[in-house]
Amino acid sequence: MKIESHLAQIGSQSDPDTGAVSFPIYQSTAFRHPKLGQSTGFDYSRTKNPTRAILEQAIAQLESGDQGFACSSGMAALQTIFAMFSHGDHLIVSLDLYGGTYRLLEKIMSRFGVTATYVDTNDMDALEAAAKPNTKGIVVETPTNPLMMVTDLELVCTWARNKGIVSIVDNTLLTPFLQRPIELGADIIIHSATKYLGGHNDVLAGLIVTKGKELSEQMAILHNSIGAVLGPQDSWLLMRGMKTLALRMERHEFNATALAKFLLTHPLIAEVYYPALENHPGFAIQNKQSSGNTGIFSFKVQDARLVEPILRHIQLIAFAESLGGVESLMTYPAVQTHADIPLEIRQKIGVDDRLLRFSVGIEHIDDLIEDLGHALDLAGAELEGEPK
Ligand SMILES: *Cc1c(COP(=O)(O)O)cnc(C)c1O
Repeated sequence: MKIESHLAQIGSQSDPDTGAVSFPIYQSTAFRHPKLGQSTGFDYSRTKNPTRAILEQAIAQLESGDQGFACSSGMAALQTIFAMFSHGDHLIVSLDLYGGTYRLLEKIMSRFGVTATYVDTNDMDALEAAAKPNTKGIVVETPTNPLMMVTDLELVCTWARNKGIVSIVDNTLLTPFLQRPIELGADIIIHSATKYLGGHNDVLAGLIVTKGKELSEQMAILHNSIGAVLGPQDSWLLMRGMKTLALRMERHEFNATALAKFLLTHPLIAEVYYPALENHPGFAIQNKQSSGNTGIFSFKVQDARLVEPILRHIQLIAFAESLGGVESLMTYPAVQTHADIPLEIRQKIGVDDRLLRFSVGIEHIDDLIEDLGHALDLAGAELEGEPK
């Protein structure tokens, strides 16, 4: 079966007793034992809950992994994974990284003696230089957000495996519908399922997928011990969202490509960062390792003074944080999502005061182009009226 069919059918054949097509929400924390030494397979919901288990099986299968773990948020999933590491361990991490992951590593994990070095994970010389005898893990986002830097997963995961380094890939932006890093050699996948997998800006969730018996057993202990698990209602909501993932991703990509091309030739726009564009440095790798593009891209305006009026004049497109939902959202990374990343690193990677990030929704493309075009026209006119 193709992935579209797996997605549409999540949980729909899993309740033979009633034949429920939508898998029920098991709102129970405890499960009665038939007799001493026997269990239905469920004892206590932190360890295992029937609704959550259907979601966990689904994501493990979609990502070609062995076991899935649903967490209360993407950050909870990352914390659960990072708890694998011990005092004295070192991590190599993608440079243009989700701000919350950077904060977790620098403000919390560092206090437990886990250190991190941030490098362009597509630069093999930089990786080689960053690797130390105590390097135990590599954390890769591809494409990154907001600068859409692309990493060759097969190359980097093979490099890591040869060195005994665990490779962890944040697959939030592409989802298993477009990219399956375990098939390219990754050991662990993490998702902020709050984004595309949920898809409707209404459920906060994180997912982990592990490959191999040893990692799966280790993660099961961490997941149960830390307890940052997803509740049954949210597990159900997430599965409801995931059933339409294929359709949504196709529309997100279609809309984002059209908008990126519209901006590429616009006189007020200096640069567009989107791996679907042939001039993007990651274009070839992106094509090789994934079957399509995400619905997010970033762009730089010619003049930083355009940012405020653009954000004021967009109407259909909301000025809001987050990404991956059906509604179009635009953010200003330098002051929102990336405020916790030091200015020095932000400048090094290019997250400056002219950069805007666009999470393109599934609205009609004509309406999106009209809204953005209109906001740019008004912003341009305001700037012209200002003294030079
Ligand atoms: C949002 C996000 C996270 C954090 O997930 P939450 O669900 O907000 O906790 C991690 N990684 C990436 C790439 C994200 O976009």
